Amino acid sequence: MTRKLRNYINGKWTETTGSLFLDVINPADNKTLAIVPAGSRDDIIDAARAAKNASADWRNMPATQRIQYLFKMKQILETNSDEISAICTAECGKTLQESRAEVVRAIENIEVACGIPKLLQSDFSEDITKGIDEYFIRQPLGIGTCIAPFNFPVMIPFWFMPYAIACGNTYIIKPSEKVPLTMTRIFELLEELNLPAGVLNMVHGGKETVDAILEHPDIPAISFVGSTNVARYVYQTGVAHNKRVQAQGGAKNPVVIMPDADVDTTVRIVTDSAFGCAGQRCLAASIVITVGKESEKFADKIVSSAKSRITGNGMDKGVEMGPVISKESRISIEKLIQKGIDDGATILLDGRNIKVEGSGEGNFVGPTVLGGLSTDSEVFKTEIFGPVLIIINVETLEDAIDLINDNRYGNSACIFTASGSAARKFRHDVMAGNIGVNIGIAAPMAFFPFSGWKESFFGDLHGQSLHAIEFYTQTKVVIERWHDEWTRKF
Ligand code: NAD
Repeated sequence: MTRKLRNYINGKWTETTGSLFLDVINPADNKTLAIVPAGSRDDIIDAARAAKNASADWRNMPATQRIQYLFKMKQILETNSDEISAICTAECGKTLQESRAEVVRAIENIEVACGIPKLLQSDFSEDITKGIDEYFIRQPLGIGTCIAPFNFPVMIPFWFMPYAIACGNTYIIKPSEKVPLTMTRIFELLEELNLPAGVLNMVHGGKETVDAILEHPDIPAISFVGSTNVARYVYQTGVAHNKRVQAQGGAKNPVVIMPDADVDTTVRIVTDSAFGCAGQRCLAASIVITVGKESEKFADKIVSSAKSRITGNGMDKGVEMGPVISKESRISIEKLIQKGIDDGATILLDGRNIKVEGSGEGNFVGPTVLGGLSTDSEVFKTEIFGPVLIIINVETLEDAIDLINDNRYGNSACIFTASGSAARKFRHDVMAGNIGVNIGIAAPMAFFPFSGWKESFFGDLHGQSLHAIEFYTQTKVVIERWHDEWTRKF
């Protein structure tokens, strides 16, 4: 019988109040793994009630005690990393190695949040005027939420949740309806924590669930990660309902290769960046800009390196690239490849119609490389979110930077060069929030903010680290005078 997933509300596994369910599909063979609630407004109302009821005791618990749960949470994820990774690969398609890497990234965020007693400390000014002191304290907002995308089922909720609960908020996670099994297993494992009921809740669903979060009067803070159009909608709707919103969106990440870059290292890193996780990373390289005639040599080498990547079921040993998330996604990627060709691109490597042994029905697209695409083509500007790399050549570093700054997205931009001065100019002039210098995936560690810009981010405070702490707290300023004559008795 097909497994039917439940929500986790108020410390209990709870059936959805809705009647519609969606299939959770293994993208490597398109077989149904489970069914997940399509979402219901009442489920969010129940979760928000539970989170609100748990709020007062949780925020009054000293931070030093709250983090004891986080230390255990870290251990639980570490101990069960293999099992969590296998579930992630089954529903998301990425390789086991890629799944394990995201568990590590999730754990790193718990580790940083364990420092909350120190991180929550504030400033104190004695004698702002004679006998008067001023300071501020950070207090939790109440209930936080994370609305997550499909491509990192483990890691992304941990960019926000550990910080939010460490700060004294209670929390609701809404996993992507495409990959709900991984977070469901994590919640089963976290029952061992014995967190007070209502502190950590999970509600499944799609748009209806998101809308219920956006409109619920008791939910003051929303962390969203997903595509740009939905990020914009979540940001604007949440703000219209007087909420604090941080909404990370899509991307089209450029990588600039200067003629002085080391060929073998650059080719290896850029190919990994473009085709790791089947190109379904918001920091994946999607446009390579080679600078100067001498750099054109990189294109052939990237194509050869891409050609040699092994595509297959992410569970299988030796596989370097899994399927894309769904049949619809494969069709949309293939259409964009064709549109690129129709717009004048040369197909240097064609990953369409790839046959993967033993996985006849999977959503596979092999590494694909397009050359000579016009920068006016929609394909040059659209996020493809698949294993498709566009390579173009420009004359100067300035041309490359202008092209990058014309991009509507600003999630990340990388440069490969041996020149400190080129790297410095790039870092200074490029309008993107995560910069890589001789790095293929400029993913900030947990103790730095994940800094998307432009249409890759709506809001001001980002996920991770001090930004997440600031996002999930409000400051209260206290100005204080103690009159000697009132209080000093001796
Ligand atoms: P998505 O926008 O389709 O879905 C994200 C979340 O929004 C899901 O939980 C989904 O249920 C919900 N949702 C979808 N449509 C909605 C609607 N119309 N109204 C309200 N809620 C809706 O994104 P996805 O396909 O799951 O993830 C891939 C996208 O996420 C890519 O664009 C990628 O670049 C982006 N992403 C960005 C970052 C980042 O840090 N900037 C990180 C990871 C992924």
